[in-house]
Amino acid sequence: MATECLFCKIAAGDIPAELIFEDDQVVAFRDISPQAPVHFLIIPRKHLAGPAEIVEENEALAGHMIRVAGVVAKKEGIDDFRLVFNNGAEAGQTVFHIHLHVLGGRAMTWPPG
Ligand code: 5GP
Ligand code: ZN
Repeated sequence: MATECLFCKIAAGDIPAELIFEDDQVVAFRDISPQAPVHFLIIPRKHLAGPAEIVEENEALAGHMIRVAGVVAKKEGIDDFRLVFNNGAEAGQTVFHIHLHVLGGRAMTWPPG
């Protein structure tokens, strides 16, 4: 755990969040500032700064995050959803613990801003 990392603290239960799924590898919780009727985040318990830190040894974790996104989206009652990983500040990343955004419950536009 990275001691000063907000999402490590959420995964550890040290900072409250509205958890909607957890297993031994990942935690899912509602985004504090939802951008769609359904907007939650999937994070690994293990600290990685962002998707650029996914390498061969941990690539199964990325697949697990995507699979869990689908399982939780179904539980949330949405069939259609958008998955977003931001990597780096210019891409919009503000929390440097890898997270997968799951957004749905409204029509999405393209391209994203
Ligand atoms: P990023 O911009 O890094 O891709 O996404 C970070 C997300 O984390 C943002 O959508 C933001 O609203 C969310 N977030 C930031 N701080 C907290 C928090 O303390 N609790 C929860 N539940 N979400 C947070
Ligand atoms: Zn972290």
